[in-house]
Parts: sequence; structure tokens; C-alpha cells
Amino acid sequence: MRRSLVVFGAILGAASIFYFLNEEEGQIKFQEAAIEQVVDSVKEEIPEPKKLYGIVVDDLNILEKKVKRNQNISEILAPYNVKPAKIYQLAKASKEIFDVRKLATNKKYTLIYKADSVPEAKALIYEPNPIDYVVFNLEDSVSVELKQREVKIVEKSMAGEIEYSLAETMENLSASHRLTNEFVDIFAWQIDFQRLQKGDRFKLIYEEKLVDGIPVGIGNIKGIHFEHFANEYFAIAYDQGNGIEYFDEEGQSLRKALLKYPIKFTRISSRYSGRRFHPVQKRWKAHRGTDFAAPRGTEIRSVGDGIVVAAKYGKYNGNFVKIRHNSTYTTQYLHMSKIARGIEPGVKVKQGQAIGYVGSTGLANGPHLCYRFWKNGVQIDALKVKLPSASPVNEKDIVKFQSTKDRILKLLNDIDYADKVEPLLAQSEVKYPNAY
Ligand SMILES: [Zn+2]
Repeated sequence: MRRSLVVFGAILGAASIFYFLNEEEGQIKFQEAAIEQVVDSVKEEIPEPKKLYGIVVDDLNILEKKVKRNQNISEILAPYNVKPAKIYQLAKASKEIFDVRKLATNKKYTLIYKADSVPEAKALIYEPNPIDYVVFNLEDSVSVELKQREVKIVEKSMAGEIEYSLAETMENLSASHRLTNEFVDIFAWQIDFQRLQKGDRFKLIYEEKLVDGIPVGIGNIKGIHFEHFANEYFAIAYDQGNGIEYFDEEGQSLRKALLKYPIKFTRISSRYSGRRFHPVQKRWKAHRGTDFAAPRGTEIRSVGDGIVVAAKYGKYNGNFVKIRHNSTYTTQYLHMSKIARGIEPGVKVKQGQAIGYVGSTGLANGPHLCYRFWKNGVQIDALKVKLPSASPVNEKDIVKFQSTKDRILKLLNDIDYADKVEPLLAQSEVKYPNAY
């Protein structure tokens, strides 16, 4: 770790102070880059056995290749004196750990073998992703192990200004699509990313995962400061024990809960299902909605804040309204006797606002509301969707949240819009199982 710090220090040039993030206590420790403590003295050269994937490879040959299309493990091993019986043993031994039939095209494998008149395989290592690797030991008794490389997490920062869109700005900063998507998701209830303005700008802190110094993916976003229409928005990542959630500087959740039901006092007459007998068409078909039986004229309310994207009559849907709540959620309300006054495309609605009245227009055999729900463009069962928590930081976590917040806000404040590069803010050497 020390060695790598010095290397990063050199990259940063002037930096003489590092932030150390203590993951367990959630505290910051400032520490001078104690050069004198760095162990970079010339060690006595003791010849150590050369190891690869934990295997001593002195006097052995190493072959590194990529899996070809449709290539299987016996094809790879056969030229190295591995008999079918042994491959069978191998497949059996690896059953619980890794399915040998799942070698994927273009993934890296390494063959360690002894060069002889007939080359003899000692081990095969397969790497399904940059973090995990599977070691097939082929010595006398066959064994299989799934191992993981050490993942180092570093915090990085980014600053950008909107010219056309967030996606375009992020791309110019060489940010991954995943980072952009998470950014949008965090502010889904606060900011309409389709209506950004030129000159809106942001600062961002996020985690990057490194294996042997090479980036292999991003971790969590830790904080964002967004300036939009001269308003300021903050997102601070904080984990109260149920995974990372995002809060504003007051500790309020950035999520807003959706109402579970679009009408009061009702009964569910037909649930979402892959197959039901249609009461009007008299045939079996999927029902991608939830029907609420209710008297004609009952008020239908929007389950959340949003923008009306459709409000019209359709042959099957009757009078219906569709509302986009944010980039994640969209809902639709069918068979209305009447659409509420003023509800038309482009209009903003509030949670609980009446958008129409129960009826039986379109393909319906009695007054009811058919309620439809989309998450990320996919239709799902509104009654089964797990809606995000929208509670503020818990009472007992407030002090810890405060210290996390102070740290993040300070880091955000220190980011300069002028340098859009990503200085290293902190690093922690945490081995994350299943980090990839
Ligand atoms: Zn329905």
C-alpha cells in the first residue's frame, strides 16, 4: 500500500496530504505523506520461487490465450496430455464451484504445463471477469478453486458543464455509461434531465475499482453537487445498514415514495398476470395491469409527481392518462369515464392530484380502473414492485451522517471546475468479495 501511495503522490505532484477513509468508523484521518516511513529500501535479494496464480512455475511453461468460439475445456486440455477420464473428474470436482461448460468466448485462460516430449498440463486458470479466476489443478488429484484478485477502491472526482445533455458531457469526460445512469437515477425525483440548461454544471465523487492498478469498473457514487437553473442540489451517499441511499444536505431522502393505490376505497378485481380469461374478449391473454373495481365517477389520483405524457381516447384503453414520474417510473390509468380538466400532455401533476374518474370506456365490461406500471421501460406488477424507501436519515445515525456529509461537502467544494481531470482523493485497500 505504501509503495502505491508514493506512486500516486508522484502523479499528483504537489499533493502532500492524503485523505484516508476509515471505512469502519466513517471518519477521516489526515496524514502527512510520511515519506520516511515508506519502505522502499533495497531489500536483500532472496531468490523466491516464481509464482503465478499461487502456483510455483519455475521450470514450467506458461501459455496465455483467449477462449475461442465454441471451444470447450477438453479441447483446450487434450493436447497437453489430459485424458478424458481426468477431464471427467475435473468437471465433477468443479460442479459446485464453476460449470466447466460455461467457458465464454474471448475470456482469458492460462495454461501452465511442463514441456516434455508430450507436454503435460499442470494447471489451467480461467478468468471469467477481471476480478474472479478459477484454478483447475491438474496434478495427481484434481481440484478446483474459485479465487478473487484484490480489488482496490479509489475515490475519484469529476466536474462538468452541460452543453447539450448530461450524457454528452459525461461522455466527453470519458465517464462510463453506468456512472451516467446512476447519476440520473440519484436525482430522478429532483431534476428532469431532459430539460437541462446550457451552463448547468456538476461536481461528482465516485469510487473506481482497480485490480493491479487497472480500472475494472466503478463502485458507488459518494457525492454530487448539481447546479441547475441557479438551484443547488446535493446528493450524499450514506449507508444505514440497508445499502447505500442518497440524501440531501438536510438528511432528507432524495427518493419520493409512490402511492401504492391510485384510488381510495376499492377492491382489486383482477391482478396483474401473464394469463387470464379476458371478460370481454372471452379469450386467454396476459393482463399487464391491476384492475380496481370502483363506482363510476370515483376520483383517480396520480401515484406520484410527474408529467402527463398522454391523455386521450383509445379504442381499447378508453379514456386514459399516462404519467412519467421520472426516468425510472411511468404509470397509466385506463377506462376513465372522463379525464380531469386540464390534464393534457406536458402538464405537471402532483402526487395525489385527481387526473380522471372511473368509468368503463374502451374494452371494459363494467366500471373499473386498469392501472399499469412501468419501471425502466418494462411493464411490471404495481402491487409487487418494491418501492424505494423515502425516509430521512434515522435519528440514531444523524451524528455519523453529519460527519460523512462534512467530508463529502468539503471534497466537493475542493473540486475545481477548471480541472475536469480526476485527481485522486482517497484510497482504501478493501477487498470486496463479489465486487465486480
Ligand atoms: Zn386491466
